[in-house]
Amino acid sequence: MARAVNYQVAALYRLPLPIPQLPVSRPTTATIHTDALRHNLTKVRQTAPNSKVMAVVKADAYGHGLERVASALESADAFGVAAMSDAERIRAAGISQPILLLSGLDEVSDVARLAELQTDSVIHHVSQIEFLEEAQSVARPIDVWMKVDSGMHRLGFYTGDVPVIYGRLQALQGKGIVGKIRALNHFAASDELDSPVTQQQMDVFQNTVQGLQVERSLANSAAILSWPSSHCEWVRAGGALYGQTVVEGKTGADFGLRPAMTFSTRLIAVNQIKQGERVGYGGAYECPETMPVGVAAIGYGDGYPRAVKSGTPVMVNGQMTQIIGRVSMDLMTIDLRGIGGADVGSVVTLWGPELPVETIGAAAGTIGYELTCSITRRVRFQED
Ligand SMILES: *Cc1c(COP(=O)(O)O)cnc(C)c1O
Repeated sequence: MARAVNYQVAALYRLPLPIPQLPVSRPTTATIHTDALRHNLTKVRQTAPNSKVMAVVKADAYGHGLERVASALESADAFGVAAMSDAERIRAAGISQPILLLSGLDEVSDVARLAELQTDSVIHHVSQIEFLEEAQSVARPIDVWMKVDSGMHRLGFYTGDVPVIYGRLQALQGKGIVGKIRALNHFAASDELDSPVTQQQMDVFQNTVQGLQVERSLANSAAILSWPSSHCEWVRAGGALYGQTVVEGKTGADFGLRPAMTFSTRLIAVNQIKQGERVGYGGAYECPETMPVGVAAIGYGDGYPRAVKSGTPVMVNGQMTQIIGRVSMDLMTIDLRGIGGADVGSVVTLWGPELPVETIGAAAGTIGYELTCSITRRVRFQED
């Protein structure tokens, strides 16, 4: 079970109470496999045996549910989040592991909030150092991670500026505002196994932080799995913990990972449609013969991508078949030719251990991460 909100802890951190789950009556369900989450954390630890593991749980734990995932992965060495409200939710769930705000503080008032929530901050821009300098005192020093731009050119300090930035952070350390100083870098293409970019970024980063007394973190999931020389003191695992990979043409299972989510629903109608008749919006699919067509209670209103075409795989009663016609807001239509026992109430699986979310992501022109992140609030969540 997901850990309930501990109201005493919530009061301690002055936390807003969580938004309740919407009441839902549809059979559309995301089942989170907490044993798979734990298996994947073990796999990451085995792959990077000398590193501490930060479990990245941003975007509601890649759509799997923040409190649920943080509770299942409480043995992680830290959690990485993208918003202060995520840190609030983790603390409200009674979890005391270190937390890192991956894009860091946004305003001066965040300094006190970070200290209250015992949350560490990435520092990627001078404005954030200024916020820290403006704060006269804090309840407890804030541990910071200095982000070095080793070549991705999104967030981070230019390598030539790092000595000065490090000096300013040390001065803040002297004033008791900053605690530990660490350093991180983010890879632009660690999923491209034959690209020289990752090795170049590693070299730039290591040269830049050489001589500084800092723990380092370079690797995201793809680097954990494919670039062992990037492991260092800390690795930051996101997708791998959910059993997913972004390496093109591969699935998490190819790396010994187990999918942490099954997305499923049920058939609400089975109809015989005549040869030559068209199915759904725009008549996008024409029946090549008279055939049984199933209608499943799921659509883009639940977060299933509308972009997929006829022919995208789907499972009915554990048997592989295909989507036909356009995915609509509440419904999709399914080819039931040759599917034994398919009837109203039959279980329809959109993705899960037998049908990788990476396959559906590719069919939609995206990655599995985006699909699990896009599940909407009318979907019922459960754990097994
Ligand atoms: C999202 C994120 C990660 C995790 O990336 P995965 O590819 O999911 O492992 C690691 N570090 C930072 C800074 C991130 O924003």
